[in-house]
Amino acid sequence: MRVTTSLYLCVLSVTSASVVANEPVWDANKVELVSETLADGVYAYYASNAKKLEAKGFPVATSGGLVVGTEGVLIIDTMLNKRLNAQVQSMVGEVGGKSPAIYAVNTSYHGDHSYGNMYLPEQSVIIQHQNSKDYVDANFKADTEFMMYNFGQGRGIEEIVPTTGDVLIESGSQIALDLGDKTVHIIDFGFAQTGGDLFVWEPESKVMWTGNAIVAVKPALPWLLDGHMLATLETFKKVYAFLPEDARVVPGHGSVMSKADIQWHIDYLEAVQEQVQLAVNEGLSLEETVKRVSMPEFSGYALFGWVHSGLNVPAAYKDLTQAN
Ligand SMILES: [Zn+2]
Repeated sequence: MRVTTSLYLCVLSVTSASVVANEPVWDANKVELVSETLADGVYAYYASNAKKLEAKGFPVATSGGLVVGTEGVLIIDTMLNKRLNAQVQSMVGEVGGKSPAIYAVNTSYHGDHSYGNMYLPEQSVIIQHQNSKDYVDANFKADTEFMMYNFGQGRGIEEIVPTTGDVLIESGSQIALDLGDKTVHIIDFGFAQTGGDLFVWEPESKVMWTGNAIVAVKPALPWLLDGHMLATLETFKKVYAFLPEDARVVPGHGSVMSKADIQWHIDYLEAVQEQVQLAVNEGLSLEETVKRVSMPEFSGYALFGWVHSGLNVPAAYKDLTQAN
């Protein structure tokens, strides 16, 4: 985490003219969420500027969604702070109808997907991966410090108290959540960024929420913050194979995309694997490998330097040297 922090700010300051070191990549005091109706009772929400920013390769605030059934409402990701969580709850008020129960799922432990848990109505049922709860139980203080460093002071992170899941999903398993006239599947497809990653699937409307694993459309790239390039690639392929061709995908930080848009992320990780493997075969050091595997064809993302050279190539190098 600490290495990541310094890389984050040092690279941010040089990769994008619109991003200044020590300023957050997006400001949780300013983001306005908008909702998009994907089917009756199925909604995505994302930042009002998501489409504009993602098209230019700039980072976007956290996305999520709602599934509204006759017996309950499922909130997918509870956002970073009170202000953004209140926007989500006002959407629940608008479209939730008379659904008696409120459920919320965190696609990972990351604060921008889970800190809002504490602001949910008391009777809400929070669903989390077991590994996410374990992470929060062990690392909450360091996690909030990391988040304040990257998202800024005075963004409501100071007041967060840890609020973990009531229903915990074990590694490799899934649950079917009965909302009355709708059943939502919450699935662990494998390591996708944190090891506590949950995908949410509503089969009738064929909508999937991926959390951070799929961050946004091209040219955005995966952030292998916790390493494990090979496992992440395998998970992406599993998710791709699971989805029907006409599925719609709500990514972790952007507007609604298609199944085909996931292919970009798979192509990128396959190219990283192939090129890092060649470097490893030649006996190159990590530094030499980072320099060699520059992959300009994937460099449209504003965070490319930090994500590709700072996180993803080192993650692949570690995986592939351990495998040898
Ligand atoms: Zn996120």
